[in-house]
Amino acid sequence: MPDPGSRDAVVVGAGIVGICAALSLLEKGFTVRVIDPEPPADGASSGNAGVISPWSCVPQTLPGLWKDVPKWLLDPDGPLALRWAYTPRLLPWLFQFFAAGNVKRLPAIADAMLTVNRPSVDLFHQLLDGTGDEDLVRDSLYLHLYRNPAGADLNNLPWRLRSERGVPLEVLRGGEIQEVEPELSTDFKAAVVIRSQGRATNPGRLGKVLAAKAEARGATFVRGRVHRLAPGVNGECRLETDQGELAAAKVVLAAGAWSARLLAPLGVKVCLEAERGYHMVFEDPGVTLNHSIMDAERKFVTSSMEMGIRSAGTAEFAGLDAPPNYRRSKVFEHLAKRILPNLNTAKKSEWMGTRPSMPDSVPCIGPVPGHPNIIGAFGHGHLGLTGAPMTGRMVAALAADEPLNLDLKPFRLDRFA
Ligand SMILES: Cc1cc2nc3c(=O)[nH]c(=O)nc-3n(C[C@H](O)[C@H](O)[C@H](O)COP(=O)(O)OP(=O)(O)OC[C@H]3O[C@@H](n4cnc5c(N)ncnc54)[C@H](O)[C@@H]3O)c2cc1C
Repeated sequence: MPDPGSRDAVVVGAGIVGICAALSLLEKGFTVRVIDPEPPADGASSGNAGVISPWSCVPQTLPGLWKDVPKWLLDPDGPLALRWAYTPRLLPWLFQFFAAGNVKRLPAIADAMLTVNRPSVDLFHQLLDGTGDEDLVRDSLYLHLYRNPAGADLNNLPWRLRSERGVPLEVLRGGEIQEVEPELSTDFKAAVVIRSQGRATNPGRLGKVLAAKAEARGATFVRGRVHRLAPGVNGECRLETDQGELAAAKVVLAAGAWSARLLAPLGVKVCLEAERGYHMVFEDPGVTLNHSIMDAERKFVTSSMEMGIRSAGTAEFAGLDAPPNYRRSKVFEHLAKRILPNLNTAKKSEWMGTRPSMPDSVPCIGPVPGHPNIIGAFGHGHLGLTGAPMTGRMVAALAADEPLNLDLKPFRLDRFA
């Protein structure tokens, strides 16, 4: 049995958060095992839109957002979908979601989001250094496009939250947009450009390259499912898995949207929801984008990747176990065409993945209440690719009992209890 003071850790979940946690734990001298029934970075961490967004500080919830909900739900191409049978189970989360969108709570939420997201581009460059795949993260702009130019007014609350925090913003009008991205439709009348961004040209491969780096540095990747976490003797943690029992001085829980299920038997309730998203990849697209593009009215992102052009988005609430509804991804075919009129959509593939979403868009990072040797690292919602490297650093410092010069209160797992 490991001594709880020893540098021995098991990371549950080999998504991008678990992989970054493993790399940071290795740096601190830990012996690291990562357990997941799936190969590294195969879930949400593979199919996302690849935006690495250091300036992201605007939560999904905002004052007055509820007014848009009926319109979105009635639109079959809209950005939001609900399975009605699931709604009663969603209500507690929804209540906290709309409560978090109170204007008085937004500054603290924005600051917490920046804590995790701000170093992302630099940290990804550092993590990739020496792998030979440094090009997987490119410096980029992030264009938010509007058909109605009123959306690009920097006095609007979401843009104000950003500019008050020093986010480098610029407004483009009319033909200025095509000077930056020649293939974009002239339907867009204005764009807000966020500078100093990054973009992953293949998020799944990025995760696999970093997992291979962790393995080369001594981490072991175990293919298996954790059924139960339990306290062991002398403060260490036991993990009951389909590969037998494991024990470790420290456990990092990075099981994405599944994390709440592993916490429930410990008597710990977290307000975590499975927010499903979809993508469509257009192979041989015939057009290229240089940057990440957000259709700000339709709320989906489009980017050039190694596989072609990927359009990704949608918030679908149907629980963790419902089968995918690929109608949600098919809408990207005509929506993407409206952004990129010359896009070749003949060859395409579709995908669904599950975001681990907290009501306030702030991840859970820190000790599990009552179980100080289990450290939570989940709940990154729409920004888990971006937040993964800093989360890894934070959990590794916590595991090593090193002081973190950060306020961890906004990240507490029990903040909605
Ligand atoms: C359509 C879409 C677009 C997105 N776009 C972006 C973007 O542009 N930028 C951005 O920053 N983020 C984006 N995201 C969000 C981002 O992809 C997620 O927040 C991130 O991938 C979450 O990473 P994770 O490691 O926490 O979870 P996951 O990638 O879900 O990994 C969790 C892992 O835990 C494993 N697991 C579950 N249960 C167990 C168990 N019992 N035992 C062992 N292992 C277990 C799972 O198999 C899985 O591999 C997007 C998401 C979607 C769906």
